Parts: sequence; structure tokens; C-alpha cells
Amino acid sequence: MSAFKGKYHDELIANATYIGTPGKGILAADESTGTIGKRLSSINVENSETNRRALRELLFTTPGALQYLSGVILFEETLYQKTAAGKPFVDVLREGGVLPGIKVDKGTVELAGTNGETTTQGLDGLGERCKKYYEAGARFAKWRAVLNIGPSEPSQLSINENANGLARYAIICQENGLVPIVEPEILVDGSHDIHKCAEVTERVLAACYKALNDHHVLLEGTLLKPNMVTPGSDSPKVAPEVIAEHTVRSLQRTMPVAVPAVVFLSGGQSEEEATLNLNAMNKLKGKKPWTLSFSFGRALQQSTLKAWAGKEENIKAAQEAFLTRAKANSEATLGTYKGDAKLGEGAAESLHVKDYKY
Ligand code: 13P
Repeated sequence: MSAFKGKYHDELIANATYIGTPGKGILAADESTGTIGKRLSSINVENSETNRRALRELLFTTPGALQYLSGVILFEETLYQKTAAGKPFVDVLREGGVLPGIKVDKGTVELAGTNGETTTQGLDGLGERCKKYYEAGARFAKWRAVLNIGPSEPSQLSINENANGLARYAIICQENGLVPIVEPEILVDGSHDIHKCAEVTERVLAACYKALNDHHVLLEGTLLKPNMVTPGSDSPKVAPEVIAEHTVRSLQRTMPVAVPAVVFLSGGQSEEEATLNLNAMNKLKGKKPWTLSFSFGRALQQSTLKAWAGKEENIKAAQEAFLTRAKANSEATLGTYKGDAKLGEGAAESLHVKDYKY
């Protein structure tokens, strides 16, 4: 049997293509309650519903920022929240031309018999949840699979298990009208070089597209959210041009032209580093039949978070910081970022967290 032809076929393609509009990208604001708690505690703000809502409102209502975005990924709690003035966040985003998305995975668990490798949970009842999220206004979804590079990692078991989980998630989303973002994140942790990262990225992506094909996923109605190909966090850094060349080559070797866009995760890079790397990819000459854009979490929010520090009187400065990063990343999707964004506090700081949990 060939690819999925269900009732959402045309809508899935239209929405995935829209998210990949050059000049726009995704804000990943779907940190789980635990993860956002860590971010809030870094600015001495309590992890309460009120504070989580306030941070998300600050981001979504930043004047001028939504023009640079085509999607925002939300955590379930946020999908149903409203601004202080009582407007549903979903409406704020839609009016700004931004599609609401939803994180649907339920985190990772260890694969027995491996050296700490994981699989992602959340398939049970996923169809029902997707239906409910679609009714609430969501049009795309995210599922994060996590792999790591070690002496014998990723194991074939972890590659197969995560590719299959992503494919099963993707087809369930499509059956229920949500564009699946396929995210096989290879963590940056380690002392490997960029060649090793390229080799592992290619192996993992090839397995993912084989599984997506086996599961009859409509590739035109999906997006890929990969890591950039970089040296490990304990290895010397390389120039953005080198990262661009290796990342694009790994994609050329493994990623079907049918997929409209690649929306990279930032994976612990600093805000400025992530923007410069994306910009270098879009400046690179050669075959790039997909939009290369962003779906950054940490690299879109760090200087905003620092500028806000949980204080009402800082909202304007925090929104300026967010606008700066959103605009710089928009330019990076076009390869026109000049490296001239005003760097807020934290914009150059590494955001690497060992063994990152979302
Ligand atoms: P980072 O950009 O902070 O890596 O996170 C993006 C994300 O959504 C990971 O699933």
C-alpha cells in the first residue's frame, strides 16, 4: 500500500508547507512542567501556573514577533490557557498567522540492557488525544526521540525502536489531522568529532525514513526536526560554514525531497551560535530542496527569560529581546543574517544541559 490518503490529506500538505514558509520558523514553547520549572528557577521565579502562563503570554504577544513565526509548539496546559485579558492563546496565534502545535510524547524511558539508551512513550491513546487537540485548534504535533553518541551508541536496538516509534506516532497524527514533526534528536553530549556526528545522523535519518515509509506516512505532510551536525560538546568548536556543509550533506544523503521543511532544534547551542549556523546553511550553495528553518526552544528564549526575570516592569525589555532573536532567525532562514543582532544577556551563553530532558 502507498502513502496515507485519509480525509486530512490536502490539509496536512498545506499546513506542513505553510510552516516551511521561508522567513518563518517555529518557537518551541512546549517545555513540560518540570523542564519549564528548571528554566524559571534559573531566574528565581516559582514554577506556578500563573508564572508559566505569564511567560508564554509575554512571548506570544510580543509586538511584531509573530510575523517571523509559522508555528508555536505548546504543552497541553498552554493549549487551553488565555491571556490575562481573557483571549485564548490559540486565537492570539491564529490571528497572527501562526499555527498552534502540541507536544504529544510522554517523555523517555530506558531501554533495558542498553547503556542508558531510551525510547519515547505516549502511543497509547494517542489517536484520541490528537482528536481532542485538533478540536482545540492544534494543527501540528511534536514527538521527541532521543539518541546519543557513545563508544557503541546508538545501538541498532535504539535506532530501530526510536524510528518505529516516530513512524507510528506520525501516522496516528496524520489520521487525526495533525502534521507530525519527526524529531530524532541525537544529543550533542560527548567528545566525538563532527564526522562521527554526521555518520550517526545519516544512519538514524535513513532508518527513520525507512520506517516512515513502511508505516505509509504521507511525507509531504510531515516536517523533520533534527540536530545540526556538529562536534560533541567536549570537542573543540568548528566554524558555522563547516557545520553547514556537514549538516546539509547528511540531509542530502538521507532526506526525501517530498518533505517540505527541516526545522532544526538548537540542542544546547547559544542563541547566537544557533542563528549563525542556520544562516550558514542557507548561504551554502548546492542542492537544498527543502526549506531550512528553526524550531528552537532554548535558543529563542534565553535572553528573553534573563531580561524578564519574572518582573512586570521588565516585560517590554524581555519582548524586545524575543523580537531580536525571532527576527535574526527569520533572516537566517533566508541566509541574510548579518550577525548584527543586539546581543541580550545570555545570547552568547552555551545552553547545553547534559542528558537534556524536555
Ligand atoms: P532546543 O531548541 O532547546 O534544543 O529544544 C527544542 C525542542 O523542542 C526539543 O524537543
